[in-house]
Amino acid sequence: MSKNKSSESVKVVVRCRPLNRKEESHGPAGGIVQMDVRLGQVILRNPRAPASEPQKTFTFDAVYDGNSKQGDLYDESVRPLIDSVLAGFNGTIFAYGQTGTGKTYTMQGAWMDPEKRGVIPNAFDHIFTHISRSQSDKQYLVRASYLEIYLEEVLDLLDPNHGTARALELRESPESGVYVRDLTSCVCKSIKEIEEVMNVGNQARAVGATDMNEHSSRSHALFLITVECSQPGPDGRKHIRVGRLNLVDLAGSERQAKTGVQGERLKEAAKINLSLSALGNVISALADGRSGHVPYRDSKLTRLLQDSLGGNAKTVMVATLGPAPQHYDETLTTLRYANRAKNIQNQPRVNEDPKDALLREFQMEIARLRAQLHHRKWRSKQKKEQVDGDGWERDGDEESEGEEDEEEGVEKEAEEYVKMEEQRLEREKQDIREDQFMLADEKQRLLGEKERMMGVLRKEQEATEQLTAKYKAMESKLLVGGKNIIDHTNEQQKMLEGKRHEIAEQTRSEREIQQQMLVQDEETVELRETFTSLQQEVEAKTKKLKKLYAKLQCIKAEIQDVNDEHVRSRQELEQTQNELTRELKFKYLIIENFIPPEEKNKIMNRLTFDTEEDQWKFQPLVPAESKSLQMKKRPASAVGYKRPISQYARVAIATGAHSRYRAENIMFLELDMTPPNSASLDRSAESEQKQSLSLDNSPTKDRSVCKSRSWCQTPKSITSSSSNVSLAARHTATPMTAQ
Ligand code: ADP
Ligand code: MG
Repeated sequence: MSKNKSSESVKVVVRCRPLNRKEESHGPAGGIVQMDVRLGQVILRNPRAPASEPQKTFTFDAVYDGNSKQGDLYDESVRPLIDSVLAGFNGTIFAYGQTGTGKTYTMQGAWMDPEKRGVIPNAFDHIFTHISRSQSDKQYLVRASYLEIYLEEVLDLLDPNHGTARALELRESPESGVYVRDLTSCVCKSIKEIEEVMNVGNQARAVGATDMNEHSSRSHALFLITVECSQPGPDGRKHIRVGRLNLVDLAGSERQAKTGVQGERLKEAAKINLSLSALGNVISALADGRSGHVPYRDSKLTRLLQDSLGGNAKTVMVATLGPAPQHYDETLTTLRYANRAKNIQNQPRVNEDPKDALLREFQMEIARLRAQLHHRKWRSKQKKEQVDGDGWERDGDEESEGEEDEEEGVEKEAEEYVKMEEQRLEREKQDIREDQFMLADEKQRLLGEKERMMGVLRKEQEATEQLTAKYKAMESKLLVGGKNIIDHTNEQQKMLEGKRHEIAEQTRSEREIQQQMLVQDEETVELRETFTSLQQEVEAKTKKLKKLYAKLQCIKAEIQDVNDEHVRSRQELEQTQNELTRELKFKYLIIENFIPPEEKNKIMNRLTFDTEEDQWKFQPLVPAESKSLQMKKRPASAVGYKRPISQYARVAIATGAHSRYRAENIMFLELDMTPPNSASLDRSAESEQKQSLSLDNSPTKDRSVCKSRSWCQTPKSITSSSSNVSLAARHTATPMTAQ
C-alpha cells in the first residue's frame, strides 16, 4: 500500500433541475432555488415566509443550475475522480435527492443523445479511452457488477434468475473490506460490452418492478467497476494497481408515509428508508467528528459505502434539487444533508498489489496455457524433425533468432507435421488397399491400425486447437495499452480534452479562491479599518452591526428549523415505535395463549444470532453432518401407504378379496349416503319378486350396486379426485337438506 495518507474531504456538488411543465403551470411563483455558479452558492427562498425573512445560503464545491450541461458536471466534478480510479484509488459518486429531481438523469441521462449522457456512460468512455491511450507496457482488466438494495436485500441485477434469486450476503475481509458474496462480475473489453452489462441490469430492474418510478424511489442501484492495471515497476517486476469505482443512484430521499399501515406493510415501510436514515446517521456521526462510533452496520447501504464515507476512497456526492415551491421542506433537508457531508474526511490511498487482484490470476493462467501450448507444439515439431531427419541443423540456425520468431517457427512446423502425418497415413492406407498379395484379414487389421493412428492424431490436433482457443480467449480479456480499441484517439481530440480539463480546473480553483476571499473578508474587515472621524466609525460599525444582526437572524431561523425537523423525525420514530410495540404485543399474545410452552422453548433453543447478517436465524432441526445417521428412511413397503404393509395385504387390496385390507386408505372409500336398508330377510319369494319389480327403477337399488362396487374397488382405480367429488357433493347437499 502507498504511504500517502493525507486526508481529503468528501466533495459535494449540488444540481438543480429546471422547472418542469407541470410545475410551471402551477403559477407564476417561479423557482425557490437561486444559484451563484461562480461562487458555488445556493440561495433558498422560503415561499411561506414573509419577504423580510433572510434567505438561506449554502456554499458547496460546485453548483449546477437548470441550464448546466451534463458535460460541465462531468468535466469539472467527476473527471478528476475517474482519473484517480484509473491511478488505483477507490472512488464513489452518489446521487442523493428527492424523487424526480434528476438523480437518474445525472447518473445515466439519455444514452442516445451525446449532450445528455450522464456520469455513468461518460465514465465508460473515459475509462476505455484512457486505456487505449496508455503505454503499451500496461495491461488492464476491467470488470463490472450491478446490484440493487431493495427492502434491505441485496439483489444481483446481472443474475439471469434475478426475479427469483435469493438475496446476497455481505461479507467483510481485511484485504478488500466489505464485499458482496457471489456477486456476478463481467469482464468487459470495450465500451459496447460494458454498456450491454448496464442495459441487462437496467432491464432486470425494470422487470422486477411493476411501477418503475415507484420502485426506483424505493431501491438503491449500485454499478461497480473495477479497473486493474499491471505495469512493470523500477524493480523490473510487474505491479498491479486496483481502482474500484462505485456509481450509486440512491432511492428518493422524501419521507415515506408510515401512517395507518400494519403487519407486512409496516415492516416494508420501516425498511424503505432504513438505509437512507442510516446513511444520514453515518454522515452526521462522521461530520460531527466527536462521536467515536459510526453506525455503518445499521444498514446494507452504509456497509457497502463504508469505504466511501470516512474510509480510503475519494467521494463525490451530487445532491439534486427541484425548484418547485411546494417541495421547500424536502429541498431544505437535502441541502442540510449535503452541507453536513462536506465535513467528512476520507483517507484515500492507492491499492497497490492487493492479494485478490484478478489480473494476477489471469496473467498466471495465461502463462500456464501458453507454456502448455508451447510444449505441445514443440513435441509435434520434434516428431517432425525425427521424420525429416534433418532437424538438428535447422535448430542451430533458429537459436540466433528472436524468441517470437522461434515460436512462430515451432507453430508452423507443428502444423506441417500434422499435415504430413495425415498425408503419410492416407498414402499407407492406399498402399495397403492396393496390395494384391495381402490377405483380406491382414488388410483389414492394418487398415484398422492406420485408422486408429489417424484418430489419435486428430484428437491431439483438436486438443491443441481447444487449448489455443482458450488461450486466445483468456488473453483477449486483458486490454493492452496503446492499442486502438476505440476509433477517436487522434491527437486533436486529445488536445481538446486536455484544454477542457484545464478550463474546468481553472474554474474550480477560481471558485475556491473566491470562497476563501469571502471568508477572509468577513474575518479581517475590522483589522483593516482605520477611522478618520467618529462619525465614520459610527457608520461603519452600524453597517457591521446590521450585517451581524442579519447573520444572527439567519442562525436563529436555522436553529428553529433544525429543532422543527428534529421534533418531526422524533414524532415519526415514536409513531413507528408504537406501531412496532403493538405488533410485538400482538405476537406475544398469540405465543402465550396458543403455543404450548414446550414448543416455544424448542423454537427459542433453535434461535441463533448471525452477526454477519445482523439478524436472528433458525438452526436446522437436525445438524447437517448427522442427518444421514439420525433420520430413518421410510421403508420401501410403506411408500404410498400410511404404514408398512405386507405383500399379501397388497394383493388382497388389489383383488378386493378380504374386507380386512380394503380400508387401508380412508380417502379411497366413497361416502355412503344411503338410508339404512330395512327390508326383512324372511319374506316370501313372491313378495320379494314383487318388490324387486316395483323397485326396478328406484335409486335404492342403484345405490346398493354402487355401494357394493365401492367395496370392490382397488386403491389404484379410484383417484383422489373421485373422492373429492363425493365429498364436494356431500358439502353441497348438506345445506339443501337443511333448507
Ligand atoms: P430521480 O431519478 O431523481 O427520481 P429523474 O432523473 O428520473 O429523477 O428525473 C425526473 C425527470 O426530470 C426526468 O424526466 C428528467 O429527464 C428530468 N430532469 C432531471 N434533471 C434534469 C436536468 N438537469 N435537465 C433537464 N431535465 C432534467
Ligand atoms: Mg431515479
